[in-house]
Amino acid sequence: MTRDKKRKAAVRETQKATGLRYTKAARLTSKPAGDRIGQSFTLQELLSECATFPPAAVDWGWGPEYKCQGPDVFQSKLLGAAIPFGTVLELAGELSREGRGTPLHLEALSPLESAVVSSGGQRRFKLIITQDSVYELCRQARCSYHPENELIPWCRDHLAECDPGVLVETARDWGYAQSEDAGRDPESREGSEGAAVLVRAAVAQGAYPRVVSVLLDACFEPDDMIDEVFWDPKDALAMRQAIDREQLRLGRIAEAEYRRIQKEAGACVACEKEFRYGIDMDVPARYCSPGCTPPPPAVAGPDPWWAASDSDADSD
Ligand SMILES: [Zn+2]
Ligand SMILES: [Zn+2]
Repeated sequence: MTRDKKRKAAVRETQKATGLRYTKAARLTSKPAGDRIGQSFTLQELLSECATFPPAAVDWGWGPEYKCQGPDVFQSKLLGAAIPFGTVLELAGELSREGRGTPLHLEALSPLESAVVSSGGQRRFKLIITQDSVYELCRQARCSYHPENELIPWCRDHLAECDPGVLVETARDWGYAQSEDAGRDPESREGSEGAAVLVRAAVAQGAYPRVVSVLLDACFEPDDMIDEVFWDPKDALAMRQAIDREQLRLGRIAEAEYRRIQKEAGACVACEKEFRYGIDMDVPARYCSPGCTPPPPAVAGPDPWWAASDSDADSD
């Protein structure tokens, strides 16, 4: 076979496996391994490779004293690297709600170690290559930390950078989930670390009053609903007492976080004057007063990193 014929055969093989159009398959085939970072593909395309590509033999570079064997892998053209069949299937499980058409974007790759993909610019996953496994990462591009939990999809640092509107909605979802898990028992809704993490992030953004109110209403019952929900006055009282205790706990956490942030900043980050006012939870803790607080961005635009990759995908 001539070089050209060989290439065409390789492109057709990619096309057959991925179901892509010839031009896209050709671009994929011509990309050497490691050159795929920044490329986009769908979960379906990766699953097609997983279902049709043969197992590949790879040298893990582990010494003879290392008795374990690596997982079964295939040579993915989409990732430009060997990837375990099991890892791709785990990823499909994680993305079952998003569906097979969900776009994936290759953010980073260390051959024979791991790869990072983001889905639709939102959820991010570390694909482990030495094992059949996947774990979710914080939603902030290039962050290598885990999310706080399933309902708080950022690490603590990046949660504290979220827009107040995002914090309010996250607190609402978190509260509803706690309330559902707890059934009618008010005490089991108290004392969660998730609520503490949300409150600390809210303090950084000057959003504590809004976040704590939404969180308590979602997690417990809004005050004007308690007597309707609980017919027995004893149960209504238990609910009100649980709310009071949780409000007190979260208030203390918020105050401690406010002081911690101000101590760390040393002075107002805008006017550089010492913090001389009392606590104002409507002001982000690193600023001394409403006058120093920068106005919120007019429209929350897309993350610039993802916007750039979107236009890459469009040109495909
Ligand atoms: Zn993060
Ligand atoms: Zn200031």
